[in-house]
Amino acid sequence: MDLLLATNNSHKADEIRAMLSDRFGRIYTLKEKKIDLSPDENGATFTENALIKARAFSALTDLPVLADDSGLVVEALGGEPGIRSARYAGENSTDADNNAKLMMRLEGVKDRRARFECRVVLLFNGKYLVGTGTTEGEILSAPSGVLGFGYDPYFYSYDLKKSFATASPAEKNSVSHRGRAIKDLLQQRF
Ligand code: IMP
Repeated sequence: MDLLLATNNSHKADEIRAMLSDRFGRIYTLKEKKIDLSPDENGATFTENALIKARAFSALTDLPVLADDSGLVVEALGGEPGIRSARYAGENSTDADNNAKLMMRLEGVKDRRARFECRVVLLFNGKYLVGTGTTEGEILSAPSGVLGFGYDPYFYSYDLKKSFATASPAEKNSVSHRGRAIKDLLQQRF
């Protein structure tokens, strides 16, 4: 079965592709299918946003569609940045802007525990499955490493005992929220 990966984030597409390559035929990115669309992610949860993306792209293709939604959750900040992770510092914010806001919000906060959450949705023939994944850690007060994307330089993984931005792609996939959500999805029948 071929598949369309519904993400405009090339880092995420690489991570997901690496984990699905032995279960699917051709895995197309939006770019490869020349699809240029950014659906309004106005859901209240990660699952709702993943479904919004899956449905929007499914309307443009006959292929099964896999969409994900993910983000960083810091309990001491009431769950921020949560579903607003990509635009924490504003609508067109960069990773650097978002990390700077996170540092500011955590100034003087002792409890720096955090987790990444991910939901992946596989939508085909109007039916869908949801995979769930979480990974735990804490937020560093200075960046460590240059790999990955987003909040990776500031996320110290309890599983890896180092920041995600110092982990190889295979190391990160083995414990990440996205890796676990995809494993959860693949264990289901489809
Ligand atoms: P989404 O594209 O709407 O799912 O937004 C996800 C946002 O959460 C990204 O833009 C990042 O800011 C953050 N995020 C999600 N997964 C990761 C990760 O694996 N590492 C670092 N940041 C992540």
